[in-house]
Amino acid sequence: SLAAIEMREGEIHSFVTVADREAVLERADEVQKQIDSGLLDGPLAGVPVAIKDNMCTEGLLTTCSSKILGNFKPTYSAEAVLNLEKAGAVIVGKTNMDEFAMGSTTETSYFGVTRNPWNTEHVPGGSSGGSCAAVAAEECPYALGSDTGGSIRQPSSFCGVTGIKPTYGTVSRYGLIAYGSSLDQIGPIAKDVSDCAAILEVIASHDKKDSTSVAREDYRFSEALVDDVKGMKIGIPRDYFGEGLDSEVKEAVLKAAKALEAKGAVLEEFDLSLVEYAIPAYYIIASAEASSNLARFDGVKYAYRTEDYAGLHQMYKKTRSEGFGEEVKRRIMLGSFVLSSGYYDAYYLKALRTKALIKKAFDKAFEKYDLILGPAAPTTAPRLGESLSDPIKMYLGDIYTISVNLAGLPGISVPCGADKNGLPVGMQLIGDCFQEKKLFRAAYAYE
Ligand code: GLN
Repeated sequence: SLAAIEMREGEIHSFVTVADREAVLERADEVQKQIDSGLLDGPLAGVPVAIKDNMCTEGLLTTCSSKILGNFKPTYSAEAVLNLEKAGAVIVGKTNMDEFAMGSTTETSYFGVTRNPWNTEHVPGGSSGGSCAAVAAEECPYALGSDTGGSIRQPSSFCGVTGIKPTYGTVSRYGLIAYGSSLDQIGPIAKDVSDCAAILEVIASHDKKDSTSVAREDYRFSEALVDDVKGMKIGIPRDYFGEGLDSEVKEAVLKAAKALEAKGAVLEEFDLSLVEYAIPAYYIIASAEASSNLARFDGVKYAYRTEDYAGLHQMYKKTRSEGFGEEVKRRIMLGSFVLSSGYYDAYYLKALRTKALIKKAFDKAFEKYDLILGPAAPTTAPRLGESLSDPIKMYLGDIYTISVNLAGLPGISVPCGADKNGLPVGMQLIGDCFQEKKLFRAAYAYE
């Protein structure tokens, strides 16, 4: 893994921080000793992993790809990271991302862009673009990402890897630097479905340090890896195949659906109403939560502080003006606006109501279907620089992923072909809450 990173980083730039070589090798030796003496067993023991740079890693830089956290070394590790370490994982570095996970291309990183390993003129997607590119470029066999509105599934689709966003509450958010707390979930990004299942088994846990963490009855996701979808009912929302969907993406996803049908799944088209309201509702809720979550970065408690200032207020103002990038500032302003008195009812409350209606529409669909199938993103990876100039267009690209976060559901992106330029396409499977096993079963059978 270290050799691959050395060879490919110059071109791809998946990492913000590559861990110190000696420290990595020492840790690997230590794990090997534990394996030899029978203290450690399991599929992740001794396997290298990369961690998205918004998850705290004790003693290792955690920047959120932002200037404001540019020199932040946490004194503790995120629960998901600790779970991996207990299983013998060896962390090789921290991956690049959109600043504070706000974006869909990894271009809003303070530390420069990551390139798509399939074609370096294109973006890897985002915000977990570094994690997905690292796996696609074989710099490491798997990585952790986070998904607030699609940030695991969309870059997985763009990079031709497999990524799952679990049901909200499955993986502890303790030590994940919050963006939209009611939407954020950590999940695995790997080469295939069975790797994702094995990793999720390790990182999922009930954690008292996260009040939204859930004690699940069954964590044995790998048991679902049986090649059988006979009789599974899969709903195909017409709304996911309409205007704005690239024809090559559509073709690849429908071909994947047919392959599942050939294996015995029962497909049916249906109307998943309210899809068009998901984007405004998401951007209001996520920005509102972000404006509150990011208030803590004020130059007092963490990392970056401006150099010259006269008094406390100017220190706050200059630190935040210099420390945050443009997209983050846009969201803080939008979030503060929709939460402010006089606008709260008109925007924030309305968005919350919309969220409840979206959840209801999914509940209704899952009365009938085991899974919902559609694309992970409307296009393949855009060229570098194409999205930055038009944020609204970028937001529209989240159409198929964000309602899953609003409803707290699990969703997986599985590679299902490529466009004529060889850029990968991802099929998304969505399940009801706590139905990851159905996702894994169908995704495995397809793969
Ligand atoms: N693209 C979405 C956004 O910019 C989703 C990001 C995410 O899931 N972290 O908010």
